[in-house]
Amino acid sequence: EYCTGGYMPISYKTILGDKYQVVRKLGYGHFSTVWLCENIINKEYVAVKVCKSANIFTAVAQDEIKLLQCTRDKNPDHPGSRNIVQMLDFFNCRSINGSHTAIAFEIMGPSLLHLIIQSDYQGIHMPGVKTIVRQVLEGLVYLHDECNIIHTDIKPENILIKVKKSYVTRMVSTTKKFYDLGVLMPKSYVAADSFTELCGPQDDDVNDDVFEWTRNRSYPEDYSIGNGGSNRRLKEGNLKGPLWIDPNIEVKIADLGNACWDDDHFSSEIQTKQYRALEVILDAGYSFPADIWSLGCVTFELATGEYLFNPKRYQRCSATADHLTLIWEVLDGIPPYITSKGNRAIRYFDSGRLRHVEDHYLKIWKIEDVLVDKYDWKRINAIPFASFIESMIEPDPQLRITAAAALQSSWLNE
Ligand code: ADP
Ligand code: MG
Repeated sequence: EYCTGGYMPISYKTILGDKYQVVRKLGYGHFSTVWLCENIINKEYVAVKVCKSANIFTAVAQDEIKLLQCTRDKNPDHPGSRNIVQMLDFFNCRSINGSHTAIAFEIMGPSLLHLIIQSDYQGIHMPGVKTIVRQVLEGLVYLHDECNIIHTDIKPENILIKVKKSYVTRMVSTTKKFYDLGVLMPKSYVAADSFTELCGPQDDDVNDDVFEWTRNRSYPEDYSIGNGGSNRRLKEGNLKGPLWIDPNIEVKIADLGNACWDDDHFSSEIQTKQYRALEVILDAGYSFPADIWSLGCVTFELATGEYLFNPKRYQRCSATADHLTLIWEVLDGIPPYITSKGNRAIRYFDSGRLRHVEDHYLKIWKIEDVLVDKYDWKRINAIPFASFIESMIEPDPQLRITAAAALQSSWLNE
C-alpha cells in the first residue's frame, strides 16, 4: 500500500509539516499511518496521522478535519469535550506517492482493546469499567448534543488511554519495535510495574494503597476499599479474573475518520460488525442511538473480556442472519414493528419471525443469565449491570437510552 495514491513513505527523523520530527510509528489504519513525532519548536510530542494520497482518502481526511474542528471549537468548556482526542494542527505533505493530508493530535497511549488483551480476555474489574464507560458517555454527550456528530465506529480500538509524559519518553528511548501502540504492543513492555509507573495516576502523590495498576489478578471478592485487599498479589497464571486498573484512568474517543453529521450521513453501511446496531443491520436509518448500541457492546466486553455479539457465517446462515439470531436470543425476541422496518428486514424476517431458523432452535439467553451461567457472576451483581446494557441495546432506537440519560443511570451511580 506504499504506492501512488497510498501511504506516504516515512522514516525516522523525517520532518513533517516543517516542524514534526518523526520518532517512531504508533499505528496504522485503513486510511493512514500514525507517527510519534517531536515538535522541534516546543519539544512536545504529538501523534501525526498521515493519510493515503488518493483523492478519495484526501476527501475523507478533509471531512475528518471539519469534524475535528467542530469538536475542538464548539464548546471547549463542556465537560465531555476533554473525552475526545484533540486535533492540534493539520497540513499537507508531498511524497513520491502524491499529496497527503496530515493531522497532528495530542499523544495518547494504548487503546481499550489493548487493555482487554492485557487482561487475557478476562475483562476489567468493575470500578475501572465504570470510570471508562462514564468518560466515553461524557464524550458522546458532547458529540451528540453539542456537535451534532455521530461517531459511527465506537469500539475498543478507538478509545485511547491517556498516558503520562514518562510513558512517552520511554516510548522514545526504547529500542523495542512497537507494532501498533494500541493493539499489539509487546506484552513485556507493559508488564506490571512499568504499566503502573507509566499509565498510573497523573498525580504522583496519589495513595496507591487502595487502587493500583497491576496485572496481578485477584478474585473480585478480594476487592474491598480500605482493607488492602486490592494489594494482595497472586502468582501470575494462578488465577483467572478481571484485570485491575487504576480508576483514575482517563480515556478519550479517537478516530473521527468515519464520523458524520446527524443531518449529513456519508454512508448507510456504518460501524464494525460486532458493534453494529440493529437499525443499521436492517438498513432502517440511524442516528445517535447507533453509537449507544456500540457502547453497550463495548461495556459488556470490558466487563467480561468477550464480545457481546460475535456473528459468524455458517453453511446455511450468513453472518448477518447469525447476528440477528444472537440479538434475538439476548433480547428474548424483537418486536414485529421493528423487524418490519428497514430495507433489509424482509430478507431476514417473515411475519415477525426469523426466516432462517425455526423457533425451537432458538436459545433465549438474557444478559443477566449469561453473566451468571457463563461468567459466574453473582446474580445480585448481574441484575443492575444487565439492565444497564439492555437500556443501551434497546431494539427501538427511539426508546434507547441517550448518552445524557445513561450518565444518570443507577448502575453508574450506585
Ligand atoms: P485510521 O482512520 O486509518 O483507522 P486511526 O485514527 O484509527 O486511523 O489511527 C490508527 C492507529 O494509530 C490507532 O488505532 C492507534 O493505535 C494509533 N493512534 C491514533 N491516534 C493516536 C494518538 N493520538 N496517540 C497515539 N496513538 C494514536
Ligand atoms: Mg481506526
